[in-house]
Amino acid sequence: PKPARYVGRFAPSPTGPLHFGSLVAAVGSWLDARAAGGSWAVRIDDVDRGRAVTGADAVILRQLEACGLTWDGPVVYQSARDEAYAAALARLQAADRAYPCGCTRREIAAVARRGPAGMIYPGTCRAGLPPGREARSWRLLTRGLQPAFDDRRHGPQRVDLEAEVGDFVIRRADGLFAYHLAMVVDDAELGVTDVVRGGDLLAATAPQVALQAALGLHTPRYLHLPVALAPDGHKLSKSVGSAALDIERPGEAVTSALAFLGQPPPPALAGARPGELLAWAVGAWRPERLPARNAIAPYA
Ligand code: GLU
Repeated sequence: PKPARYVGRFAPSPTGPLHFGSLVAAVGSWLDARAAGGSWAVRIDDVDRGRAVTGADAVILRQLEACGLTWDGPVVYQSARDEAYAAALARLQAADRAYPCGCTRREIAAVARRGPAGMIYPGTCRAGLPPGREARSWRLLTRGLQPAFDDRRHGPQRVDLEAEVGDFVIRRADGLFAYHLAMVVDDAELGVTDVVRGGDLLAATAPQVALQAALGLHTPRYLHLPVALAPDGHKLSKSVGSAALDIERPGEAVTSALAFLGQPPPPALAGARPGELLAWAVGAWRPERLPARNAIAPYA
């Protein structure tokens, strides 16, 4: 049964402090949730331990607080959820939807095709591990899968997963669970009805919708927001060291994020605090005014 009440979430990877682009995603998902009378959870996406930066989670939470982006319930950490991911993998294995892959990175690089979303693994180990090989990673069998979803900003999408993405990794050779699997399991556990996130994750959605179907999980609604770009046209990213948000001036940061989202506060709110800005923005939220294109961030 479809959950009725809106549940949203913000899921930063703790690879550094929030920058303007991640604030835009946080403000957009918070507003969409609050305007719908819904709840909003924060999840720290630290399934990839190697990329997590110690202390970045605390910095991010402080930034969210300073910007008035209050969350509901305890903060969820992916690093504490391996059991749930293992159970999901076991279900996919039992249903023959996943298979072990013994290929090394080098072997894959030699045979993979380059697709729109990265390297496409040609399915070497689909028919079974070659003799003498051990499982390194586990992959989802994408044969015949054509996940479809309706993005609120980008419209209907349908992806030939086998041709465009290929059998993607759900458990990595280093034993860690892959982001797609973790995300799908966690969003289902939180009861997320609406995923509102940066448009850079649009391409991640089809694999995630396929996993939801394979696991018998509900597919949420999706809204992918415009992406904030650096002046050189690349996406801002925590890992390349885009400027951290200045929480000394949270009102300015929130004002810029609202303007970026096509919801500029009225002149009467110039210099207002985040709480006042967001209270106005909840009432004024019009997702149909989101800009159609990505744009350069007002500061990077
Ligand atoms: N943790 C992911 C990121 O920071 C986003 C996950 C999501 O919103 O689905 O890029």
